[in-house]
Amino acid sequence: MRVPAKVNLQLAVGPRREDGFHALVNVFHAVSLFDEVTVKAAPPRQSRALTELTAAGQSESHLARVPLDGSNLAARAATLLAEETGAGSPVDIHIDKRIPVAGGMAGGSADAAAALVACDRLWGCGLPRERLLELAARLGSDVAFGLVGDTAVGTGRGELLEPLASPGRFRWVFALSTRGLSTADVFGEYDRLRPDAPEPRLDAALEKALAGGGARALGRALSNDLQPAALSLLPELERTLEAGRSAGALGALVSGSGPTCAFLLGGGDEDPDEVAEREAGVVAALRSTGLCEQVVPADGDVPGSTVL
Ligand code: ATP
Repeated sequence: MRVPAKVNLQLAVGPRREDGFHALVNVFHAVSLFDEVTVKAAPPRQSRALTELTAAGQSESHLARVPLDGSNLAARAATLLAEETGAGSPVDIHIDKRIPVAGGMAGGSADAAAALVACDRLWGCGLPRERLLELAARLGSDVAFGLVGDTAVGTGRGELLEPLASPGRFRWVFALSTRGLSTADVFGEYDRLRPDAPEPRLDAALEKALAGGGARALGRALSNDLQPAALSLLPELERTLEAGRSAGALGALVSGSGPTCAFLLGGGDEDPDEVAEREAGVVAALRSTGLCEQVVPADGDVPGSTVL
């Protein structure tokens, strides 16, 4: 399975709810930075574990943060499916990781979405899509989006998804930090900074920019309520954002809970040569900060989890 990372075009965060989650309006946009998740029937083994995991692909510092036990989101997806259907013979799951880990791009959620679809096929469960989406939502707020991809708005705690019309195709650059940020820590800092957050709403200017397909309007409409909290925990991100902005990015923001920073370079109606020139400038400026572990271009939007 191939499954994309996401960037949030808008992340509006409301007050903390009674169940501990925050009310969100979360505009997801799938980008061409993919994990590949392979699920195979396991050969007979001594342990009775349902899943055994291996991971490769990303840098050592990222791989070190990927758990290879039952807490891995891909393993949790397989376990949930087995519990719900009564199916479930042991599987080996291999994750070829390209999505930054703990980077605010929902890599773990993407792997969970891929494992859910792969195990559903391998075990012959044949669950209807609505049921898979429901299980995905139980695994985490971002998992359902890994199934659907493209551009969609999530409400509730982010898991109630509606597709958003977005005919344009956009070019992005992602600056991966050498450091990780815990999503829980960033929400905690958000609560400290914004104890009186208003109810979140979809930004009409963003919806209009997406429907129109223009990159400049989209760049102006990008927003992330978690950005001040991420910058408060990791102030160097402001230098990364400023480097990309000064080099001509049309929009710059922290992706989700960070620390990955996203830069919109162009797309839609823009001249491709101009976009390529802007990309070269932004990539060089980001590299010269010395703050980025990797600087990776990608396109969006792209489809969700796909069988290869
Ligand atoms: P989000 O944007 O959904 O908040 P994220 O992109 O910031 O998440 P992930 O890469 O999904 O972060 O990882 C967050 C944590 O989840 C990791 O630090 C790791 O401990 C755990 N984790 C569990 N399963 C996975 C997985 N398959 N890949 C990466 N991390 C995983």
